[in-house]
Amino acid sequence: MRSYSLVAPAKINLYLEIIGDRPDGYHELVMVLQAISLADKIEISSIEIDAISIKCDHPGVPDNQNNLAYRAAALMAEQFPHAIARYGGVEIKIQKTIPIAAGLAGGSSNAAAVLVGLDLLWELGLTQGELQELGGQIGSDVPFCLEGGTALATGRGEVLSPLANLDQLYLVLAKYHNLQISTPWAYKTYRQQFSHTYVSATQDLQSRRDRVHSGPIVAAVMHQDGAEIGRLLHNDLEKVALPEYPQIQQLRQMIGTQPGVLGAMMSGSGPTVFGLVQSQAEATQVMKTVRGQIPDPELGLWTAKFISQGISLV
Ligand code: ATP
Repeated sequence: MRSYSLVAPAKINLYLEIIGDRPDGYHELVMVLQAISLADKIEISSIEIDAISIKCDHPGVPDNQNNLAYRAAALMAEQFPHAIARYGGVEIKIQKTIPIAAGLAGGSSNAAAVLVGLDLLWELGLTQGELQELGGQIGSDVPFCLEGGTALATGRGEVLSPLANLDQLYLVLAKYHNLQISTPWAYKTYRQQFSHTYVSATQDLQSRRDRVHSGPIVAAVMHQDGAEIGRLLHNDLEKVALPEYPQIQQLRQMIGTQPGVLGAMMSGSGPTVFGLVQSQAEATQVMKTVRGQIPDPELGLWTAKFISQGISLV
């Protein structure tokens, strides 16, 4: 049985600005995305029977066509029917470390790993561009998860411009296990409350560009200036998540005021909060202090490092 093991890293948003509605129903976004060392492990193997099988060690993850990893395999099977005929079906084992529905793109990263794994397993020799195009059909975060590192993402989040490498920064992450936020809920609620601020479809591209405020944080990333990045963290979705979930606000406040923390924010649609620091020692110290102040076992805490790659082989 041929198989490959892959590392599927989580992402955080250093910046997330909602510009307006797109004709396809999605939001037009400007984001700065960062891959981090918190990661799932994906093992992908050929099997005799002509089927896609998902096994995951986390009971909250679907083992059917609702799993993004399944959807990635189904898309590959549809695009490359001769491969299924030649190599048989595929078994995908997912070892979950990335918390679920956390704003960390865990499912998207699993899907990206399946695209890379099947490209290898089926000896397709796809280019990064071809993988990204397939990834974009599965979900807006999948192209970034393939690429990793640090990137400016526009459109639905699938149009990527790589930025300077920030792999000298560390972070502490905090999420209540019993608190999950659905991404569609966050965007729908934002639309209900803030659509009056959206750029309307009739306005031209220039006015859309004028409304983007990501310039300073992109400059800070290019200068690899951790203190400035921490100061400029921004996420429009906090405007809907923080009033609804005071626990997130409390975590953000607590982490953001620890010694050494350059800035703290909710990632993506939440509810994970992260705090940026300059070293592993500081990340460990912040984690210990927060644990001391919130002994609740429902609170999950992790430390991680910024990384420069996306999907990689074990
Ligand atoms: P994003 O930041 O891209 O919005 P997220 O981190 O908030 O993603 P995920 O962990 O990707 O959210 O999962 C969101 C939902 O998708 C979960 O509730 C889960 O039921 C479903 N899901 C489908 N496939 C997976 C997968 N491989 N891993 C985790 N969840 C998955």
